[in-house]
Amino acid sequence: MNTNYWVVDKIVDTLENSPQLKQAAELLEQNEVVAFPTETVYGLGGNAKSDLAVEKIFAAKGRPSDNPLIVHIARKEQLNDFVDVIPDSAKKLMAHFWPGPLTIILSYKEGTLSSKTTAGLSTVGIRMPDHQVALALLEQVDLPIAAPSANRSGKPSPTMAQHVKEDLDGRIAGIVDGGPTGVGVESTVVDCTTEIPVILRPGGVTKEQLEDVVGEVLYDPALTDVKETPKSPGMKYRHYAPDAPLYLVDGSKEGIQVLIDGSRREGLKVGVLTTEENQSFYDADYIFTCGKREHLETVASSIYEALRSFDKAGMDLIYSEMFPNVGVGNAIMNRLLKAAGQKVIKG
Ligand code: AMP
Ligand code: MG
Repeated sequence: MNTNYWVVDKIVDTLENSPQLKQAAELLEQNEVVAFPTETVYGLGGNAKSDLAVEKIFAAKGRPSDNPLIVHIARKEQLNDFVDVIPDSAKKLMAHFWPGPLTIILSYKEGTLSSKTTAGLSTVGIRMPDHQVALALLEQVDLPIAAPSANRSGKPSPTMAQHVKEDLDGRIAGIVDGGPTGVGVESTVVDCTTEIPVILRPGGVTKEQLEDVVGEVLYDPALTDVKETPKSPGMKYRHYAPDAPLYLVDGSKEGIQVLIDGSRREGLKVGVLTTEENQSFYDADYIFTCGKREHLETVASSIYEALRSFDKAGMDLIYSEMFPNVGVGNAIMNRLLKAAGQKVIKG
């Protein structure tokens, strides 16, 4: 399949007349799948009402079919088509965080979307992305658009159009290139079907920010206890993983250097994931500097690029520093632990 590639500028205010977006919207209306930028990561969009379109998303990604897709909308009114009840907690969260990196799980009006979008669940996850290009495209199609991250399943999520191309060129109808994404980790998924909202996946909006708006919010116990079954089906899969094995190191930079030296003596090419504060300390085959530790948002925005870059640099093994579980640090650690297959070693 020929994959169209359109470059659009998210700064210009002519997006509604953009011929590139018009073509992308037409393909979506024809139940083809198209990747587009959001403020979190690039999404792979398809008509959420169409079995055919949603099957194409799963096939292009190689995604397990029991993992439901998030439905993206441009206007709140669209919700009424496929959601039964909107509890007060959800209303408050939407008013405060939409458009933005927050997916809200609500009870689903049976038969209004493809059952492949919801993976047969009685709930549906919805969000309104905070990105000019995404919103302009969603406005033009005027359909609910199912859009998981636009990577091959299991790989790090794409934060640049180039990453989408690496994974999906020839497998999808088009890629809208709107430049690098901002937040860099996926949306926070919060279940509002329970009396107290529950975070199923940490992401761009922190627990503290949610609590400021709706009071108490819980974490799904499965996020910290691997023996629990996650309520979000996608959370049980290995994810975000580079080809080279990744180890998170619970220890000092000196301890990490000892590990690097040991692995290099065995003839391995060793990469290290660090931040600006420590980058000049390490001696390794490849060093990726992921923002500044004191501003965890800068780490989040480059974490997936970091994971992809170790494979491009041909590393055999990666050691990574750990990050504090505060604010967006929760999302960073959640993704790194998955990418590492939960491998944490002492350093
Ligand atoms: P992705 O589309 O790759 O960003 O992943 C979407 C995440 O949201 C996955 O972890 C899904 O399992 C989760 N999700 C989507 N819909 C629901 C739902 N109705 N209930 C629980 N989790 C959901
Ligand atoms: Mg994903």
